[in-house]
Amino acid sequence: MWFLDFFSNIFEHFSDPKKRIFLGYIFISIGIAFFWLILQKKLSLRQAFWKIFDKKVFFSKSSKSDYSVFIINRIFTLFISPLLLTQMAIATIIFHLLHKIDLFNASVFSNFSKVWIVLLFTVFVFILDDITKYFVHRWMHKWPILWSLHKVHHSATKLTPLTIYRTHPLEGIVFSLRGAFTQGTSISIFVYLFGNSVDLITILGVNIIVFTFNIAGSNLRHSHIGIRYWTWLEYIFISPAQHQLHHSIAEAHHNKNFGASLALWDWLFGSLHHSTEIESLTLGVDGSENERSHSLHTLYIKPLGEIIFYSVEKLKILKISICQFGIRIQNKFYALVKQ
Ligand SMILES: [Zn+2]
Ligand SMILES: [Zn+2]
Repeated sequence: MWFLDFFSNIFEHFSDPKKRIFLGYIFISIGIAFFWLILQKKLSLRQAFWKIFDKKVFFSKSSKSDYSVFIINRIFTLFISPLLLTQMAIATIIFHLLHKIDLFNASVFSNFSKVWIVLLFTVFVFILDDITKYFVHRWMHKWPILWSLHKVHHSATKLTPLTIYRTHPLEGIVFSLRGAFTQGTSISIFVYLFGNSVDLITILGVNIIVFTFNIAGSNLRHSHIGIRYWTWLEYIFISPAQHQLHHSIAEAHHNKNFGASLALWDWLFGSLHHSTEIESLTLGVDGSENERSHSLHTLYIKPLGEIIFYSVEKLKILKISICQFGIRIQNKFYALVKQ
Protein backbone atom coordinates (compact mmCIF):
# COMPACT_ATOMS: atom_id res chain seq x y z
CA MET A 1 0.00 0.00 0.00
CA TRP A 2 3.03 2.27 -0.30
CA PHE A 3 1.45 4.13 -3.23
CA LEU A 4 -1.43 5.23 -0.94
CA ASP A 5 1.15 6.62 1.49
CA PHE A 6 2.88 8.22 -1.49
CA PHE A 7 -0.27 10.06 -2.65
CA SER A 8 -1.22 11.12 0.88
CA ASN A 9 2.35 12.44 1.34
CA ILE A 10 1.96 14.61 -1.78
CA PHE A 11 -1.53 15.74 -0.75
CA GLU A 12 -0.25 16.55 2.77
CA HIS A 13 2.25 19.07 1.36
CA PHE A 14 -0.59 21.18 0.00
CA SER A 15 -3.08 20.64 2.84
CA ASP A 16 -0.91 20.76 5.97
CA PRO A 17 -0.11 24.26 7.36
CA LYS A 18 3.16 22.80 8.71
CA LYS A 19 4.38 22.52 5.11
CA ARG A 20 5.75 25.52 3.24
CA ILE A 21 3.62 25.00 0.11
CA PHE A 22 0.32 24.68 2.02
CA LEU A 23 -2.27 26.09 -0.40
CA GLY A 24 -3.35 28.74 2.14
CA TYR A 25 0.18 30.21 2.11
CA ILE A 26 0.38 29.97 -1.68
CA PHE A 27 -2.88 31.93 -2.13
CA ILE A 28 -1.72 34.62 0.32
CA SER A 29 1.63 34.84 -1.53
CA ILE A 30 -0.22 35.34 -4.82
CA GLY A 31 -2.23 38.15 -3.16
CA ILE A 32 0.98 39.80 -1.91
CA ALA A 33 2.53 39.50 -5.40
CA PHE A 34 -0.51 41.29 -6.91
CA PHE A 35 -0.21 44.10 -4.34
CA TRP A 36 3.52 44.50 -5.04
CA LEU A 37 3.17 44.54 -8.82
CA ILE A 38 0.18 46.90 -8.88
CA LEU A 39 1.15 49.34 -6.12
CA GLN A 40 4.96 49.30 -6.36
CA LYS A 41 5.62 48.37 -10.00
CA LYS A 42 2.53 50.20 -11.32
CA LEU A 43 1.30 47.29 -13.47
CA SER A 44 -2.35 46.93 -14.41
CA LEU A 45 -4.31 44.03 -12.91
CA ARG A 46 -4.08 42.17 -16.21
CA GLN A 47 -0.31 42.76 -16.56
CA ALA A 48 0.21 41.66 -12.95
CA PHE A 49 -1.77 38.46 -13.62
CA TRP A 50 0.38 37.51 -16.64
CA LYS A 51 3.55 38.44 -14.79
CA ILE A 52 2.66 36.17 -11.83
CA PHE A 53 1.49 33.23 -13.95
CA ASP A 54 4.30 33.59 -16.48
CA LYS A 55 4.34 30.53 -18.77
CA LYS A 56 8.07 31.03 -19.40
CA VAL A 57 8.67 30.36 -15.71
CA PHE A 58 6.20 27.59 -14.92
CA PHE A 59 6.79 25.60 -18.14
CA SER A 60 10.55 26.12 -18.25
CA LYS A 61 12.88 23.09 -18.27
CA SER A 62 14.10 24.13 -14.83
CA SER A 63 10.60 24.25 -13.31
CA LYS A 64 9.56 20.99 -14.95
CA SER A 65 12.52 19.29 -13.30
CA ASP A 66 11.47 20.89 -9.96
CA TYR A 67 8.11 19.12 -10.33
CA SER A 68 9.79 15.76 -11.11
CA VAL A 69 12.23 16.10 -8.20
CA PHE A 70 9.34 16.95 -5.85
CA ILE A 71 7.50 13.74 -6.84
CA ILE A 72 10.60 11.51 -6.81
CA ASN A 73 11.75 12.86 -3.42
CA ARG A 74 8.36 11.94 -1.91
CA ILE A 75 9.19 8.29 -2.69
CA PHE A 76 12.61 8.65 -1.01
CA THR A 77 10.96 10.27 2.02
CA LEU A 78 8.65 7.25 2.44
CA PHE A 79 11.59 4.85 2.64
CA ILE A 80 14.12 7.02 4.47
CA SER A 81 12.08 8.80 7.17
CA PRO A 82 11.46 5.69 9.35
CA LEU A 83 15.25 5.20 9.49
CA LEU A 84 15.96 8.68 10.82
CA LEU A 85 16.33 9.37 14.52
CA THR A 86 13.15 11.01 15.73
CA GLN A 87 13.23 14.27 17.65
CA MET A 88 11.68 12.49 20.66
CA ALA A 89 14.58 10.00 20.75
CA ILE A 90 17.06 12.90 20.69
CA ALA A 91 15.03 14.77 23.33
CA THR A 92 15.05 11.71 25.61
CA ILE A 93 18.82 11.20 25.25
CA ILE A 94 19.62 14.89 25.97
CA PHE A 95 17.10 14.99 28.84
CA HIS A 96 18.84 12.02 30.51
CA LEU A 97 22.27 13.57 29.86
CA LEU A 98 21.17 16.81 31.53
CA HIS A 99 20.00 14.85 34.57
CA LYS A 100 23.34 13.04 34.69
CA ILE A 101 25.39 16.26 34.46
CA ASP A 102 22.93 18.01 36.80
CA LEU A 103 24.45 21.48 36.30
CA PHE A 104 21.25 23.03 37.65
CA ASN A 105 18.55 21.42 39.71
CA ALA A 106 15.94 19.88 37.44
CA SER A 107 12.82 22.09 37.11
CA VAL A 108 14.76 24.98 38.70
CA PHE A 109 12.56 27.56 36.94
CA SER A 110 9.26 25.68 37.22
CA ASN A 111 7.76 28.46 39.37
CA PHE A 112 7.93 30.89 36.42
CA SER A 113 4.53 31.97 35.14
CA LYS A 114 3.21 29.63 32.43
CA VAL A 115 2.74 32.58 30.02
CA TRP A 116 6.45 33.44 30.19
CA ILE A 117 7.56 29.83 29.82
CA VAL A 118 5.40 29.32 26.72
CA LEU A 119 6.49 32.65 25.21
CA LEU A 120 10.18 31.94 25.88
CA PHE A 121 9.91 28.41 24.46
CA THR A 122 8.15 29.63 21.28
CA VAL A 123 10.87 32.23 20.61
CA PHE A 124 13.72 29.85 21.57
CA VAL A 125 12.51 27.08 19.22
CA PHE A 126 12.25 29.57 16.37
CA ILE A 127 15.68 31.16 16.98
CA LEU A 128 17.48 27.81 17.37
CA ASP A 129 15.76 26.46 14.26
CA ASP A 130 16.65 29.54 12.20
CA ILE A 131 20.30 29.85 13.30
CA THR A 132 21.01 26.13 12.72
CA LYS A 133 19.44 26.44 9.25
CA TYR A 134 21.81 29.37 8.61
CA PHE A 135 24.93 27.42 9.62
CA VAL A 136 24.00 24.17 7.86
CA HIS A 137 23.22 26.19 4.71
CA ARG A 138 26.56 28.02 5.02
CA TRP A 139 28.44 24.70 5.36
CA MET A 140 26.53 23.41 2.33
CA HIS A 141 28.24 26.18 0.33
CA LYS A 142 31.69 25.99 1.92
CA TRP A 143 32.41 22.23 2.08
CA PRO A 144 32.92 20.68 -1.38
CA ILE A 145 31.18 17.40 -0.48
CA LEU A 146 28.09 19.22 0.81
CA TRP A 147 28.20 21.68 -2.11
CA SER A 148 27.93 18.72 -4.52
CA LEU A 149 24.55 18.03 -2.93
CA HIS A 150 23.36 21.63 -2.48
CA LYS A 151 24.28 22.45 -6.09
CA VAL A 152 21.13 20.55 -7.06
CA HIS A 153 19.03 23.30 -5.45
CA HIS A 154 21.14 26.02 -7.06
CA SER A 155 20.95 24.46 -10.52
CA ALA A 156 17.43 25.93 -10.83
CA THR A 157 17.47 28.74 -13.37
CA LYS A 158 13.85 29.70 -12.73
CA LEU A 159 12.36 29.82 -9.25
CA THR A 160 8.89 28.59 -8.26
CA PRO A 161 7.59 27.73 -4.76
CA LEU A 162 8.36 24.08 -5.54
CA THR A 163 12.08 24.90 -6.00
CA ILE A 164 12.41 24.64 -2.21
CA TYR A 165 11.99 20.88 -2.71
CA ARG A 166 14.58 20.74 -5.49
CA THR A 167 17.15 19.11 -3.25
CA HIS A 168 19.21 15.94 -3.37
CA PRO A 169 17.70 13.29 -1.01
CA LEU A 170 20.98 13.24 0.95
CA GLU A 171 20.63 16.98 1.61
CA GLY A 172 17.08 16.19 2.75
CA ILE A 173 18.53 13.77 5.31
CA VAL A 174 21.04 16.37 6.58
CA PHE A 175 18.23 18.92 7.08
CA SER A 176 15.89 16.34 8.68
CA LEU A 177 18.59 15.46 11.20
CA ARG A 178 19.13 19.16 11.87
CA GLY A 179 15.38 19.61 12.48
CA ALA A 180 15.21 16.60 14.81
CA PHE A 181 18.30 17.83 16.67
CA THR A 182 17.04 21.39 17.21
CA GLN A 183 13.54 20.36 18.25
CA GLY A 184 14.83 17.55 20.46
CA THR A 185 17.38 19.90 22.06
CA SER A 186 14.85 22.68 22.77
CA ILE A 187 12.25 20.31 24.23
CA SER A 188 14.72 18.52 26.49
CA ILE A 189 16.42 21.69 27.78
CA PHE A 190 13.12 23.45 28.47
CA VAL A 191 11.42 20.46 30.16
CA TYR A 192 14.57 20.00 32.26
CA LEU A 193 14.65 23.67 33.38
CA PHE A 194 10.96 24.63 33.41
CA GLY A 195 9.12 21.38 34.11
CA ASN A 196 5.89 20.29 32.48
CA SER A 197 4.42 23.73 31.64
CA VAL A 198 6.47 23.86 28.40
CA ASP A 199 4.27 24.46 25.38
CA LEU A 200 4.33 26.27 22.02
CA ILE A 201 2.10 29.13 20.93
CA THR A 202 0.66 27.81 17.69
CA ILE A 203 -1.77 28.69 14.94
CA LEU A 204 -3.16 25.68 13.06
CA GLY A 205 -0.53 23.58 14.84
CA VAL A 206 2.36 25.75 13.59
CA ASN A 207 4.72 27.87 15.74
CA ILE A 208 3.10 31.32 15.61
CA ILE A 209 6.34 32.98 14.42
CA VAL A 210 6.81 30.47 11.57
CA PHE A 211 3.12 30.86 10.68
CA THR A 212 3.55 34.66 10.53
CA PHE A 213 6.54 34.27 8.18
CA ASN A 214 4.57 31.93 5.96
CA ILE A 215 1.56 34.24 5.64
CA ALA A 216 4.00 37.10 5.01
CA GLY A 217 4.82 35.48 1.66
CA SER A 218 7.71 33.11 2.42
CA ASN A 219 6.87 31.27 -0.82
CA LEU A 220 7.85 34.35 -2.82
CA ARG A 221 11.53 33.74 -2.03
CA HIS A 222 11.41 31.00 -4.63
CA SER A 223 9.58 32.96 -7.30
CA HIS A 224 10.24 35.51 -10.04
CA ILE A 225 8.54 38.27 -8.03
CA GLY A 226 11.44 40.30 -6.66
CA ILE A 227 9.86 41.87 -3.59
CA ARG A 228 12.40 44.05 -1.80
CA TYR A 229 12.17 45.39 1.75
CA TRP A 230 13.38 48.69 3.11
CA THR A 231 17.17 48.58 3.61
CA TRP A 232 16.86 48.67 7.42
CA LEU A 233 14.39 45.75 7.38
CA GLU A 234 16.72 43.64 5.20
CA TYR A 235 19.18 43.60 8.10
CA ILE A 236 16.58 41.71 10.15
CA PHE A 237 14.42 39.68 7.76
CA ILE A 238 15.41 38.05 4.45
CA SER A 239 13.31 39.59 1.69
CA PRO A 240 12.27 37.47 -1.32
CA ALA A 241 14.69 39.45 -3.52
CA GLN A 242 17.55 38.73 -1.08
CA HIS A 243 17.04 34.97 -1.42
CA GLN A 244 16.71 35.33 -5.20
CA LEU A 245 20.10 37.09 -5.10
CA HIS A 246 21.46 34.05 -3.19
CA HIS A 247 20.64 32.08 -6.38
CA SER A 248 22.48 34.54 -8.64
CA ILE A 249 25.62 33.42 -10.52
CA ALA A 250 27.36 36.82 -10.14
CA GLU A 251 30.58 36.54 -8.17
CA ALA A 252 29.61 39.43 -5.89
CA HIS A 253 26.57 37.41 -4.80
CA HIS A 254 28.44 34.18 -4.02
CA ASN A 255 28.12 32.99 -0.42
CA LYS A 256 25.65 35.73 0.49
CA ASN A 257 22.25 35.58 2.22
CA PHE A 258 22.24 32.08 3.73
CA GLY A 259 19.44 33.01 6.14
CA ALA A 260 16.09 31.22 6.11
CA SER A 261 13.78 33.72 7.84
CA LEU A 262 16.15 36.09 9.64
CA ALA A 263 18.82 38.14 7.85
CA LEU A 264 20.25 38.90 11.27
CA TRP A 265 22.68 35.92 11.10
CA ASP A 266 23.97 37.07 7.71
CA TRP A 267 24.49 40.54 9.12
CA LEU A 268 26.27 39.23 12.25
CA PHE A 269 28.50 36.74 10.39
CA GLY A 270 29.36 38.92 7.40
CA SER A 271 27.33 37.29 4.61
CA LEU A 272 24.57 39.88 4.19
CA HIS A 273 23.84 41.41 0.78
CA HIS A 274 20.98 43.80 0.25
CA SER A 275 18.55 43.05 -2.56
CA THR A 276 18.85 44.33 -6.11
CA GLU A 277 16.33 44.40 -8.95
CA ILE A 278 15.78 40.72 -9.79
CA GLU A 279 15.57 41.47 -13.53
CA SER A 280 19.34 42.08 -13.49
CA LEU A 281 20.12 38.63 -12.04
CA THR A 282 21.07 35.42 -13.87
CA LEU A 283 20.21 32.41 -11.75
CA GLY A 284 21.91 29.02 -11.63
CA VAL A 285 25.29 27.53 -10.72
CA ASP A 286 27.68 29.02 -13.28
CA GLY A 287 25.58 30.24 -16.18
CA SER A 288 26.38 27.20 -18.34
CA GLU A 289 22.83 25.89 -18.61
CA ASN A 290 22.45 23.14 -21.22
CA GLU A 291 20.19 20.23 -22.17
CA ARG A 292 21.60 18.07 -19.40
CA SER A 293 21.54 20.69 -16.59
CA HIS A 294 18.09 19.60 -15.43
CA SER A 295 18.27 15.89 -16.22
CA LEU A 296 17.59 13.40 -13.44
CA HIS A 297 21.11 12.03 -13.95
CA THR A 298 22.63 15.46 -13.23
CA LEU A 299 20.38 16.01 -10.23
CA TYR A 300 20.61 12.58 -8.57
CA ILE A 301 23.63 10.58 -9.82
CA LYS A 302 26.26 13.23 -10.62
CA PRO A 303 26.43 14.57 -7.02
CA LEU A 304 27.13 11.01 -5.78
CA GLY A 305 29.97 10.67 -8.33
CA GLU A 306 31.44 13.99 -7.14
CA ILE A 307 31.22 12.88 -3.50
CA ILE A 308 33.05 9.63 -4.28
CA PHE A 309 35.73 11.62 -6.17
CA TYR A 310 36.26 14.07 -3.26
CA SER A 311 36.32 11.21 -0.73
CA VAL A 312 38.97 9.31 -2.75
CA GLU A 313 41.05 12.52 -3.05
CA LYS A 314 40.76 13.09 0.74
CA LEU A 315 41.77 9.46 1.42
CA LYS A 316 44.81 9.88 -0.86
CA ILE A 317 45.87 13.01 1.07
CA LEU A 318 45.28 11.16 4.36
CA LYS A 319 47.36 8.20 3.13
CA ILE A 320 50.25 10.50 2.11
CA SER A 321 50.13 12.28 5.50
CA ILE A 322 50.15 8.95 7.38
CA CYS A 323 53.13 7.72 5.28
CA GLN A 324 55.06 10.98 5.88
CA PHE A 325 54.31 10.72 9.61
CA GLY A 326 55.51 7.07 9.61
CA ILE A 327 58.77 8.00 7.83
CA ARG A 328 59.40 10.82 10.32
CA ILE A 329 58.89 8.44 13.29
CA GLN A 330 61.17 5.84 11.62
CA ASN A 331 63.94 8.43 11.08
CA LYS A 332 63.66 9.59 14.70
CA PHE A 333 63.91 5.96 15.84
CA TYR A 334 67.05 5.33 13.73
CA ALA A 335 68.62 8.55 15.03
CA LEU A 336 68.01 7.38 18.62
CA VAL A 337 69.45 3.88 17.92
CA LYS A 338 72.62 5.40 16.32
CA GLN A 339 73.26 7.48 19.41
ZN1 LIG B 1 22.29 27.93 -1.05
ZN1 LIG C 1 16.73 28.69 -2.58
